[in-house]
Amino acid sequence: MFPAAFEYQRARSVDEALSLLAKHGSDARILAGGQSLIPAMRYRLARPAVLVDINPISGLDYLREDKGALVVGALARDSALENSALVARYRLVADASMVVADPVVRQSGTVVGSLCHNDPSGDWPVAAMAGGASVLVRGAKGERVVAIDDFLVDSFTMTVGEGEMAIEVRFPTPPERTAGAYYKIERKVGDFATACAAARVTLGADGAIADASVAIGAVGPKAMRVAGAEKLLRGAKPSRELVRSAGDAARTIADPVADNRGSAEYKKAMAGVLVERALVTAFERLGIGGPK
Ligand SMILES: Cc1cc2nc3c(=O)[nH]c(=O)nc-3n(C[C@H](O)[C@H](O)[C@H](O)COP(=O)(O)OP(=O)(O)OC[C@H]3O[C@@H](n4cnc5c(N)ncnc54)[C@H](O)[C@@H]3O)c2cc1C
Repeated sequence: MFPAAFEYQRARSVDEALSLLAKHGSDARILAGGQSLIPAMRYRLARPAVLVDINPISGLDYLREDKGALVVGALARDSALENSALVARYRLVADASMVVADPVVRQSGTVVGSLCHNDPSGDWPVAAMAGGASVLVRGAKGERVVAIDDFLVDSFTMTVGEGEMAIEVRFPTPPERTAGAYYKIERKVGDFATACAAARVTLGADGAIADASVAIGAVGPKAMRVAGAEKLLRGAKPSRELVRSAGDAARTIADPVADNRGSAEYKKAMAGVLVERALVTAFERLGIGGPK
């Protein structure tokens, strides 16, 4: 299907994009990689009257470390993260960058665009949540930094308001003795997740878990923080039983719907399995071996 008619505007700077967004209000949508927006327009699920194409803005595709964070600009493509030595040091982020869609989609799709789209089965919302990310949002009234849990409001809804643009996402640099991992189950390469999970743990000097962050996706209306697992993990020593209990916490809160990717029971079970897998991998990356 063809999209409904729309006006196309090219922005050559962030200021120009913001002024076009201010001028056209709720009629306007930003076009980044177009991998979610264009299909939605073709199926008439989205009918923006004006597309503000931010691709001509130079210098917005950065990947850099700044003020204790990996900073990913609004035009950094998934493929750039996948092939970056800098991102490789952020293992959870690197894991996610390699399994989003397929290599062709990753050439165009952006991390920030994915967070702004906030698909309940998207990979980046889950990785960003477990990674403790935040998003820099700019509008006519200035800038604000929004913590990812506040940014991801509901299915296909986030906090970038009318006339605003997400400029970058920041993944905090993991402190010493911290590791994370991201896993997804998909029917075949290029598919959205049947279930996905990410975990990040920090070990204290005594070998106990000083901090933990766990999130799951594709098993509810949006990415979900598994607060029950985080509570169990903090202060505990890594063990097979602990990992299993964290998985149980994920199975408890997962609330998937059955579809052609699987039954609700299967997805619920997989959310738990993937949390366990992510935790075991995180511990292995910390060099302590798979907890027994
Ligand atoms: C075949 C196929 C398979 C896919 N599989 C997966 C998958 O397995 N996992 C997955 O997570 N995703 C998947 N996707 C989605 C893909 O990752 C998209 O690229 C991503 O979700 C959106 O990024 P984009 O840059 O293309 O955004 P766009 O499509 O350009 O925009 C998406 C939305 O975000 C808004 N937006 C974009 N940038 C900004 C900004 N800077 N500020 C404010 N709003 C903004 C747009 O207005 C639009 O509403 C798939 C897509 C396709 C076509």
